[in-house]
Amino acid sequence: MKQFSNQNDLKIALKEHSGKRIGFVPTMGALHSGHASLLIKAKAECDLVVCSIFVNPTQFNEAADFENYPIRIEEDLKTLQSVGCDFVYIPDNPEDVYKNEQDFKVDLGILDKIMEGVKRPGHFDGVLRVVKLLFEIVSPTHSYFGLKDYQQYMIIKEMSRQLKMGVEVIGCPIIREADGLAKSSRNLLLTLNQRQIATTLIKTLRYAHEYYDRFETRELERICLTMMRQYGEPEYFVIRRSDNLEKIDSSYKGEIRAFTVCKIGDVRLIDNLRIR
Ligand code: AMP
Repeated sequence: MKQFSNQNDLKIALKEHSGKRIGFVPTMGALHSGHASLLIKAKAECDLVVCSIFVNPTQFNEAADFENYPIRIEEDLKTLQSVGCDFVYIPDNPEDVYKNEQDFKVDLGILDKIMEGVKRPGHFDGVLRVVKLLFEIVSPTHSYFGLKDYQQYMIIKEMSRQLKMGVEVIGCPIIREADGLAKSSRNLLLTLNQRQIATTLIKTLRYAHEYYDRFETRELERICLTMMRQYGEPEYFVIRRSDNLEKIDSSYKGEIRAFTVCKIGDVRLIDNLRIR
C-alpha cells in the first residue's frame, strides 16, 4: 500500500492507472468493519482501491465534535493493509485538499433541507465541498458510501449526477455490532453504560419495522420518539420514501425507511432501517 500526504504525489501515481476501474472510499478515519466493508466491495469490483482519511473541518457544525473526533492513524493503516487497499491519501493539512477549490452549485430539492440538513446547519455544504474536491483529486470511476449515512449518500449521488463527475456512487449495507448498534467511529466515545443504552436506536427502528402496518406514519413516528426519550435525547425519528426522502402518501407503494438520530450523553448517533 502506498501512502500519500499531498494531492500532487497522489495524482502522479494515479496517472499510471488511467483507464482502469478506480474505487474510492472517503473516510474520516478511526476505521472499523463498516469502513472495511466498503473497501472490500471496492477491492472486489475495481482494479485499484483508494482510501482517504481526512477529518474534514468544514463539515463539523460544532467545534467540540471536531476536536473530540477520534484519530487512530496507526491502527487505520493496519486495517487498510488487511483489506488490500492500494493507495491511501492522508493530507498533511486541510489546505492540501482545499487549495484548488472552485465555486459550484447543485439543486438538491428537499434532500439537504430535512433531517441532518436541519439539525446540522452547513454540514452537507461541507460534505459536498470535500467530496467534490476528493473526486477531482482521485478521479474515481466508482465511489463507495455507507447507507448508515443514507441522506449523505443520496446527496453525493445527486451531486455527482448534476455535475457530471463520471463517478458511480454506490451505497453499501450498514454493518452492525452483534446487538444491532450500527458501527461508528463515534461509538469509541461512549462509556460502558452509554454503549448499552445506545441499542435504543436499533431497537426503536426495529419496532417501527414490526409495527409499520398497524399505525399511521405520523403516529408511529411520535410513538418511536417517545420510546427513545426514555433512554436518550432523540433529535428526530422520521419515516420517508427511500427513493427521494419525501413523506409517504397512500399512493406510494415503494421502499420506505425510518431514520433517526439520538444523543446518548454527548455522543450523537445516527441510524436508519428499511421498514418496507
Ligand atoms: P466516516 O468515516 O464516518 O465519514 O464514514 C466513511 C464512510 O463509511 C461513509 O460512507 C459512511 O457511511 C461509511 N460507514 C460508516 N459506518 C458504517 C457502517 N456501520 N456500515 C457501513 N458503512 C459505514
